[in-house]
Amino acid sequence: MIEENYREVEARVREAAIRSGRTPEEVTLIAVSKTKPLSDIEALIRIGVREFGENKPQELKEKFDSVSQPVHFHQIGHLQTNKVKYVIDRAVLIHSVDSVHLAEQIQKEAEKRGVTAEVLIEVNAAEEDTKFGVTLADAPGLVREISAFPNIHIKGLMTIAPFVDDPEENRPVFRAMKQLLLDIKSQKIHNVDMSVLSMGMTNDFEVAIEEGATMVRVGTAIFGERDYNV
Ligand SMILES: *Cc1c(COP(=O)(O)O)cnc(C)c1O
Repeated sequence: MIEENYREVEARVREAAIRSGRTPEEVTLIAVSKTKPLSDIEALIRIGVREFGENKPQELKEKFDSVSQPVHFHQIGHLQTNKVKYVIDRAVLIHSVDSVHLAEQIQKEAEKRGVTAEVLIEVNAAEEDTKFGVTLADAPGLVREISAFPNIHIKGLMTIAPFVDDPEENRPVFRAMKQLLLDIKSQKIHNVDMSVLSMGMTNDFEVAIEEGATMVRVGTAIFGERDYNV
């Protein structure tokens, strides 16, 4: 079931990439396993899936430490400074850096362990009150500030688009993100590479890919609805 769902989403990712004149290899599908049991992750590992996304640092830690073989876990949810220690040498990529304050803590923990943390800057592109992230306007400045941290490497940008009925409504949001990525890239900031654009979820990942996403984060379409009451 989960395996079939994954294959189906994977095929849609591939088609969207080809449709927009890109190769399927340019788009990484992250299976968002938050709230789901380890057995679901193991089922996907058996068919070769290696990229998983988690929201909560402690859940990421537990799953990372329990899986039967090493796979990549992405920290995609909001990160509080006191939780950085759980993900710093476990998450392959932290998608949700949105302040210098958080970057300072990441720098501290990364330096302590002698690692470089790979991160994305989270942008609240639609400027929704309920969402974390820096505004489009403030993003270049934040990238520049964080680029000075020696144990942090900025690889690109991430956004969570608004929840809408018609994914087409998010096309301008994704387009603005791609433009922002290009603008920052053109500034050629030292220690910043802007190769990753993480955007698109169950409801809108195809539109996101058409507009330039290189990582999509898909949960519900693979694992089914989440139950937060268990
Ligand atoms: C939960 C979550 C997703 C996946 O959402 P679905 O709509 O279930 O695909 C993607 N990104 C983030 C940051 C999330 O928290």
